[in-house]
Amino acid sequence: MAGEPQEDCLFCKIVAKHVPATIVRETDTTVAFRDINPQAPTHVLVIPKVHHADAARLAAAEPEIAADVLREAQAVADAEELDSYRIVFNTGSGAGQTVWHAHAHVLGGRGLQWPPG
Ligand code: AMP
Ligand code: ZN
Repeated sequence: MAGEPQEDCLFCKIVAKHVPATIVRETDTTVAFRDINPQAPTHVLVIPKVHHADAARLAAAEPEIAADVLREAQAVADAEELDSYRIVFNTGSGAGQTVWHAHAHVLGGRGLQWPPG
């Protein structure tokens, strides 16, 4: 069922603390942890605790939790003292999505090109 933990989902396992991660913030509805393969000096993933395959499906099913993810992205940026940062939601394999549990990449700490690749 949408929102329920999935046994084969890496990020559900991080939420459950069955897989270790460098957690930087946690709320009732979200977890923020450092990306294992950072693409910038700050590269933190903010995920909802509930399982949805991507950000749009999260927003459709549980919009208040999608808003929590965005609020937490700002909280991470504040904690990391980032004036500017980028939030990325890769959606679909053609856009680089590899984990099918909604997640925001929060990237900062260096100049960020526009448009992205
Ligand atoms: P995406 O490619 O947009 O689906 O993003 C998935 C991200 O998860 C990638 O940037 C990976 O580096 C990151 N990742 C994969 N496994 C882990 C892990 N165990 N801990 C932290 N980040 C991870
Ligand atoms: Zn999941």
